[in-house]
Amino acid sequence: MPTFRAGVDLGATKIQTVVVGPDHAVVGQARHATPTEGGPPAVTTAIAGAVEEAAGAAGVAVEELGGVGVGSPGAVDHDAGTVAEARNLPDWEEAFPLAAALADALDAPVRIDNDVQVAVLGELELGAGRPYSSFLGVWWGTGVGGGIVLDRKLWLGRGAAGEIGHTVVKRGGARCPCGRRGCLEAYAGRGAMEARARELVHRGRKTDLFELMEKRGRPRLTSGVWEAALHHHDKLAKELMARAVGALGVGIASAVNLLDVEAVVIGGGLGTRLGEPYVARIAEAMQPHLFVADRPPAMLPAALGDLGGAIGAALLVENSESL
Ligand SMILES: [Zn+2]
Repeated sequence: MPTFRAGVDLGATKIQTVVVGPDHAVVGQARHATPTEGGPPAVTTAIAGAVEEAAGAAGVAVEELGGVGVGSPGAVDHDAGTVAEARNLPDWEEAFPLAAALADALDAPVRIDNDVQVAVLGELELGAGRPYSSFLGVWWGTGVGGGIVLDRKLWLGRGAAGEIGHTVVKRGGARCPCGRRGCLEAYAGRGAMEARARELVHRGRKTDLFELMEKRGRPRLTSGVWEAALHHHDKLAKELMARAVGALGVGIASAVNLLDVEAVVIGGGLGTRLGEPYVARIAEAMQPHLFVADRPPAMLPAALGDLGGAIGAALLVENSESL
C-alpha cells in the first residue's frame, strides 16, 4: 500500500484537500475556493493546485502520492471516472472525464465517487460508524443526501441508493429543488430553507437571517448564519428549523422502519455545525414514527467533522489498491 494518499472533497463553494499517512492521519491540507467560471477545466486546475498545496504542507512530493481520491457532486460514474450534471459547479452539465484530466495534471492515479457516499465511507471505516454493521448516514446540508451501510458495505442499489432527501414526508407537500413535491429536502435542505425564508420575508415576516448573512459577507444562508440566528433566538429561523427537524424525524424514522439499521449518523454542513443537540432533537422527532418504538437506533453526529469528505475520499485509493 502506498504510504501517502490525497483526498479531495469537491464542493460548490470550496475544494477541501487532505494528504493522509498510512494510519489515515491527516498530515497536510489545503482549502481553495471553487472557481465560479471556466467550466470543468478550471475546476480540474483548481483541484490540482489544492492537492499540490496539501502535499507541500505535508512535506510530500506529488510524485510520492499513491493516488488521489475525489468525492464529487453530480452524477458520478466511478468506473468511467466521469462527472455529469454537477449543477452547483460552473457550466458542468455534460459528462466530463474528471479522473483522467486530474490524473494527467498530477501524474497520479485518480479515483472518483459520489461526495456523500465517500463521506459515509469515511464514517464507516474511521468515524462514528465503526462499531456498527449497519447504519444510515444522513448528510444534512444544502441538500439532504444519504448513504446506506448494510453488513459493513455501502448499499448502492443500481447506483442511486441512499437518496433519503427525496423520500416523501408529505404527499402533495412543498416543492422540492428536484421539481417534485413533499420530499424531505423540500423542508430540511438548506437551499430550500433559504428559499422559504426569502418567500416569508417577501410576505412581510421579520428575521435577522439576511442581515447576519450580509454582515458576514456571505451570498447565501450558510450553516454558520443559521447557527448565529438560532443563537439569537430569531423567531423565523427557529420556526424553519423546527419544520426541518420535524421532516427529518419523519423521513429518517420511515427509513429505519424499512431497514432496521443499528445507528443513524448525521453529517453534512448543517449537521456538523449544529451537532449533538440537533441530533437529539431529530431523535425526539423520530420517536412517534418508529414502528419498534422501544428499540430506537443509536443516533450519532458524524465524527470526522469538516475534513470527513476529504478523508473519506482518500479511502477510495486504498480501496482500489485492495481490489
Ligand atoms: Zn426531491
